[in-house]
Amino acid sequence: MFWKILFAKTHTYEFLVTTMRALVTGGAGFIGSHLIDRLVARGDTVVALDNLSSGKLQFIQSHLDSGIVTHVKGDITDFDTVLSAMEGIDCVFHLAANPDIRLGTRITDTDLKQGTLATYNIVEAMRRCDVKKIAFASSSVVYGEDAPLPTPENHGPCMPISLYGASKQAGEGLISSWVGTFGLQAWIFRFANIIGTRGTHGVIFDFIHKLKVDPSRLEVLGNGLQEKSYMEVEDCVDGILHVMKHTDAPLNLFNLGSHDTASVRRIAEIVVEETGCHEATIEYTGGDRGWAGDIPRAMLGIDKMMSTGYDVRFNSEAAIRHTTKALIQEIGINEEMKG
Ligand code: NAD
Repeated sequence: MFWKILFAKTHTYEFLVTTMRALVTGGAGFIGSHLIDRLVARGDTVVALDNLSSGKLQFIQSHLDSGIVTHVKGDITDFDTVLSAMEGIDCVFHLAANPDIRLGTRITDTDLKQGTLATYNIVEAMRRCDVKKIAFASSSVVYGEDAPLPTPENHGPCMPISLYGASKQAGEGLISSWVGTFGLQAWIFRFANIIGTRGTHGVIFDFIHKLKVDPSRLEVLGNGLQEKSYMEVEDCVDGILHVMKHTDAPLNLFNLGSHDTASVRRIAEIVVEETGCHEATIEYTGGDRGWAGDIPRAMLGIDKMMSTGYDVRFNSEAAIRHTTKALIQEIGINEEMKG
């Protein structure tokens, strides 16, 4: 093992802090880059393995400049790349995946390759390099659409309805089997919809872009009544690290989400309000879901997360408003566009 001991000194006393070398797959992505901020803040060194398909180096540039984070530009579908990035690692945060559920409906082996087979590469490389700890970014979509709401972690059987959901469930299965067979220790996190700064996809990002192209109308996929819970990204990464610090079973399964839900209709209203595109008409394409494989209503039970002593700072609507303001700045909506 490569644990490093850091001696930290405060004005009153000296204490020991254990730091580690982490591998973050998808480290240049939306959630991965926020996670890296937190890992660096607590003193870890980080290898970010990312092919930059949707991630951006600018999200972690300050850490790259300081030398605390190293970027390996590579693909997790390539076993040798994963194996060499695994050298000297204490803990893996496996976040890289195809983030676009809709892509799976057009190219049907996307999630199989980038989710299921890539997760095999991760756990097998861990076995070969004797790396024992992994945190995995799974999703609420593993529960499928007939689960009780809010859905607790012990709901089953899980019947995902998207190819993306199937790959997350397969990833969970692979990790669980490596725990049972090869002594891995794992934290599987089923995320709600995660939103916040540096978002590069998702409903708020899409709405702002649509208004940027045409400020007079906003097309909403579905009837707008889709109802899901939204979690702010810093709440998400703090939740990951809090739960990992306070749990120690061989296999730890946690939902990460917020206390309530918001409708897509409400998100559209907030985005129109915050962009100042007051003249925009909101037009619904109809139907109970945005696309094939979408789940119209989702809310995760978060009692287990809260039992570790962790709670979120943002509810769904506050997270949506906060994210909308931040993404408007990042994407850029200018005065002439507003009605
Ligand atoms: P993201 O697209 O911003 O991050 C994924 C990162 O992985 C990107 O930086 C991308 O360049 C990289 N990547 C993708 N495929 C890769 C490959 N084959 N090899 C190497 N790098 C690759 O998406 P995100 O929203 O930050 O999602 C992170 C994880 O959380 C994903 O596993 C996603 O499925 C999961 N998740 C996200 C949400 C959400 O609402 N954002 C919800 C549930 C689960």
